[in-house]
Amino acid sequence: MGPGPSGAHPRVLRAMTAPLLGHLDPEFLRIMDECRVMLRQVLRTENAVTIATPGTGTSGMEAAVMNLVEPGDNVVIGVCGYFGDRIVQMAERAGGNVTRVDAAWGSPVDPAEMQKAIAASGQVKLVGIVHAETSTGVMTPPEPIAKLAKEAGALMLVDCVTSLGGVPVEADAWGADVVYSGTQKCLSAPPGVAPVTFSPAAWAKVRAREVPSNTWYLDMSLLEAYWDERRSYHHTAPISMVYALHQALSLVLEEGLEQRWARHERNGRALQAGLEAMGLGLHADEGYRLPVLTTVKIPEGVNDGEVRGALLKRHSIEVGGGLGDLKGKVWRVGLMGESSTEGNVLLFLSALGRIVAEQGVQLDVKAGIATASERLRGQEA
Ligand SMILES: *Cc1c(COP(=O)(O)O)cnc(C)c1O
Repeated sequence: MGPGPSGAHPRVLRAMTAPLLGHLDPEFLRIMDECRVMLRQVLRTENAVTIATPGTGTSGMEAAVMNLVEPGDNVVIGVCGYFGDRIVQMAERAGGNVTRVDAAWGSPVDPAEMQKAIAASGQVKLVGIVHAETSTGVMTPPEPIAKLAKEAGALMLVDCVTSLGGVPVEADAWGADVVYSGTQKCLSAPPGVAPVTFSPAAWAKVRAREVPSNTWYLDMSLLEAYWDERRSYHHTAPISMVYALHQALSLVLEEGLEQRWARHERNGRALQAGLEAMGLGLHADEGYRLPVLTTVKIPEGVNDGEVRGALLKRHSIEVGGGLGDLKGKVWRVGLMGESSTEGNVLLFLSALGRIVAEQGVQLDVKAGIATASERLRGQEA
């Protein structure tokens, strides 16, 4: 129940034990092709250029940023947490003139602030945000910002590492030009490959680059030439990870995207209502809280490390600590993919209540469990 990796389904783990095929074996190429089709379904896009880059979610981020940002490009990035800052760092390394638009860690990126920054930055080439900030538990709605990007003639980048497979991601309907994700959050596979998709407009910018991007391994032109019918060798595909991705995407589609979003929503809201009923505070702004990652304020007088240690040792529950300024101030509780279950919600509430009580802070565990149970049954508390 941390901020990832989430638990993987046995079918995903079993797929990884299948015999290795060559990276140009016809059977393996069929699996890659099926991954492309399923990735488009899960990302809700018609983009031809939809692949999985080798490496964790950060490889998807690098593929997006390094291929799209050319030296001297004006770039505007909304930052409301740790991962938005990572995009800024990459865009600067790619030679972009980056304007960052900061929001408090706990609030979403403000479209009005983005609009001001875009207007003040000359001809902007790329606008970017993180959809689901795993460091703060906040969701920034991408659509209004994508609209601003379009009006300014810029491409729109959206980091969906934590949202994909857990909360609605609609790449095409949002007007997003590049979206990337990871496998170990709500897709519930081990970390190791990163879904990425480029719109026709984004692809045109990649193709029109005057200087090749500074990354050879994640050069999208070379990667696409391996993933499409050219099958031109670029790297030895992480065979077992592609099997895992294939199974994980199949499981998402078997459950149904809408049903999966609804499961995450129900369990996440039950956890949040339960925590509040117990007497704990939530860190993220109301109305922008992610159901898949909840930031809980650590009560006064409670030792962060001891509580997390006891949760792990006595109950085998892992939760995350705070990043950056939130270190020691919040716990980050994930309910992602296979780990988003009713059982985990109720177990976590009771285990946390007991451990915090041992530190001398009494929480109303009964009220928390009752409230969460009602939410899980679909009733208002
Ligand atoms: C986890 C995460 C990343 C980085 O993914 P890795 O798999 O750790 O490389 C990027 N962005 C967000 C929002 C994330 O949650």
